[in-house]
Amino acid sequence: MATTDGFVGTMRKVTAHLTQNEGLSFEKSSPGKKGYRLAPLDVPEVDAAALLGGAVRDDVGALPELSEIEIIRHFTRLSTWNYAIDLGMYPLGSCTMKYNPRVNELVSRLEGIAEAHPYQPESLSQGALEIVKLLQDCLIEITGMDAITLQPAAGAHGEFTGILLARAYHQSKGNARKTVIIPDSAHGTNPATAASCGYQVINLKSNAQGGVDVAALAQIVNEDTAAMMLTNPSTIGVFENEIHKIADVLHDKGALLYMDGANMNALVGKTRPGDFGVDVMHLNLHKTFSTPHGGGGPGSGPVACKKILEPFLPSPVVAQGEDGLLHWNYDRPKSVGRVRMLYGNFGMFVRALAYTLANGPDGLRQTTEDAVLNANYIRKKLEDVYELPYTTPSMHEVVFSDKRQVKNGVKTGDIAKRLIDYGFHPYTTSFPLIVPGALMIEPTESESREELDLFVDAMRQIAREVEENPQVVITAPHATRISRLDETGAARKPVLRWKGPPEDAVEVDTPAKEW
Ligand SMILES: *Cc1c(COP(=O)(O)O)cnc(C)c1O
Repeated sequence: MATTDGFVGTMRKVTAHLTQNEGLSFEKSSPGKKGYRLAPLDVPEVDAAALLGGAVRDDVGALPELSEIEIIRHFTRLSTWNYAIDLGMYPLGSCTMKYNPRVNELVSRLEGIAEAHPYQPESLSQGALEIVKLLQDCLIEITGMDAITLQPAAGAHGEFTGILLARAYHQSKGNARKTVIIPDSAHGTNPATAASCGYQVINLKSNAQGGVDVAALAQIVNEDTAAMMLTNPSTIGVFENEIHKIADVLHDKGALLYMDGANMNALVGKTRPGDFGVDVMHLNLHKTFSTPHGGGGPGSGPVACKKILEPFLPSPVVAQGEDGLLHWNYDRPKSVGRVRMLYGNFGMFVRALAYTLANGPDGLRQTTEDAVLNANYIRKKLEDVYELPYTTPSMHEVVFSDKRQVKNGVKTGDIAKRLIDYGFHPYTTSFPLIVPGALMIEPTESESREELDLFVDAMRQIAREVEENPQVVITAPHATRISRLDETGAARKPVLRWKGPPEDAVEVDTPAKEW
């Protein structure tokens, strides 16, 4: 481990831990070992070949042979080479990696909830339907919208659903329209969504404060504009102060305002998109409402909308029948159809509802305030060492740039990798694109003052290293099992499974590369 004097104290146990167990070979299998013992056969033996024909195998293939404890240790050890929100701060901006309270997990594992089957009769699913209905009511109240669907399985999926609603709405008026306006600060999923729905994307340049230039917007909105997709607060963590005017400009031409609500954790309990002119929006339950995310899911991206879009919501929707029971209503002639099988990721609804009810209105508001406070604390403590490209007040995240560090040949990606040596997950690098060399930091409300101070210390220490010994930053991380990967190769040619004996195994410990 390469270290220099003076900051060893701030390197925390979790990274020290990563370097233990050096020298263990990957291949652990030895012939004949088993991690199980089957009970003696107590049913008549059958001739498998007669039953299954050619589908019967003589051997189990080249599977590793190990004892139970070896398996347990293998996976437990691997898990310690990773990083988790349960180990420390995870300041990945825009991703809202907040702590997932254990009460959510307890509730989602209650027998009647965990074992409910999507095909069980509605009369036996009233509890599950009530969870859906109650969560919908809470989210409608929080967003200030009129109706909602919980079907979409991710934020991007919610965007897709929301723009389909806009499209169906315009089509119902005789013209689906051609374009969707998206600011240059947008999350990459926004233009991808608009294009997937068949729209041409019109790019809108942000103004000097990082917000929407309303005059420029007014110039380009016309009868071909289906909608504008706007993230609020924006990806630089800034609230669109002129959101009312933006809505008016769009509505004047019959266009809709779509809000990417992935950053709703900066607004919950303080202001409501439905009150400031938004027509349709998505939420990321797996960000704002604490349900865990990472590793590809599961997620949940509910879409809330105003009355004018309600008829187009995906089918089915929850409704209360005359018998007083809750039902799924499939009789929706104008619906855009299903966007997902069954009803959505129910386990995520349970967790989000548990989180919402446990916090209550005051708790949710406090959560928002603490998230904003934490981001501003970091901003104040770092703004003398890292460049702050936009000085507009920060909401839930703060975006710096590597402008001062680049002079010594150190880029945002290097600083992020050095942060790993100090026991933190990297912040989001190089995004949003309107900030060259961005460092996008989102602490969330989960972090204590002590954890924030450790993070600030680490970031300040790295800034000093950049001045005194940039090489240690450029070649970081030094405390992990492997240092720098060929990131392009890892993305283009991912090796996702073990491929046999070591001679075929892929070399993962590549030398440091220019990031
Ligand atoms: C995370 C995020 C999304 C996409 O959400 P997924 O669940 O990852 O699909 C969209 N927009 C913004 C601003 C986000 O932060």
